[in-house]
Amino acid sequence: MRVSVFGATGSIGESTFDLLARRDDIQAVALTGGRNVARLAEQARSLGAEIAVTAHDDCYAALKEALAGSGVEAAAGTQALIDAADRPADWVMSAIVGAAGLAPGFRALAQGATLALANKESLVTAGPLMMAEAARHDARILPVDSEHSAVFQALVGEDTGAVERVIIPASGGPFRDWSLERLEHATLAEAMTHPNWSMGQRITIDSASLFNKALELIETREFFGFEPDQIEAVIHPQSIIHALVGFRDGALMAHLGAPDMRHAIGYALNWPDRAKLPVARLDLAAIGALQFEAPDPVRFPALRLARAVMEMRGHAGAAFNAAKEVALDEFIAGRLRYLDMARLVERTIDQLLTDSCLTAPVTTLETVQAMDQMAREAARTLVLRMA
Ligand code: NAD
Ligand code: MG
Repeated sequence: MRVSVFGATGSIGESTFDLLARRDDIQAVALTGGRNVARLAEQARSLGAEIAVTAHDDCYAALKEALAGSGVEAAAGTQALIDAADRPADWVMSAIVGAAGLAPGFRALAQGATLALANKESLVTAGPLMMAEAARHDARILPVDSEHSAVFQALVGEDTGAVERVIIPASGGPFRDWSLERLEHATLAEAMTHPNWSMGQRITIDSASLFNKALELIETREFFGFEPDQIEAVIHPQSIIHALVGFRDGALMAHLGAPDMRHAIGYALNWPDRAKLPVARLDLAAIGALQFEAPDPVRFPALRLARAVMEMRGHAGAAFNAAKEVALDEFIAGRLRYLDMARLVERTIDQLLTDSCLTAPVTTLETVQAMDQMAREAARTLVLRMA
């Protein structure tokens, strides 16, 4: 099987690498990364990839040197990275973080590859476009976000018309019990400690603010086509249940597993088969109890914003995600307080709402990227006023 991994050096990328390295039927095509060229080169050598691509032009020399004598081609820059998605592959992992992951995944669909989609931003910003592109090229998108993989698995053999609702659990993150007053002063270090999952920095902070869950609700709508009122979030601190699907006969099918992304990645890698995977088996007696609680929309406004975006559709997802990325950058840089991230996103959407393009249907990648840029500029201007 010919395989490419976009975002190979990240958290999902490393878990994917781990699974690929255990197999002897893998022909690695393209691996991509950022500034960690030493690790990218190591991965590319180990899997015998055709090409390794760093997103940064100024990292080219270092990557080339790290690959010297390996036979692996080196390339750098955004365009080289997107072009790598044209190289014929059967299975492509989309695990770049943020809106930057959209273009390579889109191109991988155009060559008919099966796209294992960890990059939730692709569906949030350009859901209808991604789904149409997959259909047009007879390519398949397999969800890798754990919740969406769980829903996908619960739907095997089912009629989606019989689905009443989908419940997406959220751990509630490190701030689950914090008061609104305390949240005003939440720090970066505090937001960086996820109770159950080990992930990249950005998604870890998004998990604390529930912006990650907000993206996932939108992702659920776009991937499975359920209506917003069929999609619920519930706080489930143990992160043992990854999603539940409720059918019209009242049955609720839950997917349980250890919090290890190698399950969802491995499911997508082996689909439609179930292969043996190196993930921990649950000891239910040791876990003892599973808790659930309703999410508080006041302390976690991201969920409320997600509902509005799901209703608006069109380019609202692209604007929402871009404003959220700016808010996150500003929070990481110490220029925006924790709760101001949601305020900034809400103000950006409100401002762009006066522009009719926000709810215009998504038909091309270019309009999505234009909205992304417009929302980033609007958010950056608003930040200055909020400081
Ligand atoms: P990460 O930050 O650990 O890794 C991101 C990868 O993308 C790295 O290889 C990095 O070099 C590369 N990258 C970053 N910015 C880039 C850019 N502008 N252009 C090209 N490459 C760039 O992120 P992660 O936690 O592995 O998450 C990756 C994606 O998977 C995200 O969309 C995230 O929401 C999603 N996801 C992650 C997890 C998880 O457990 N980590 C779970 C579900 C979904
Ligand atoms: Mg998830």
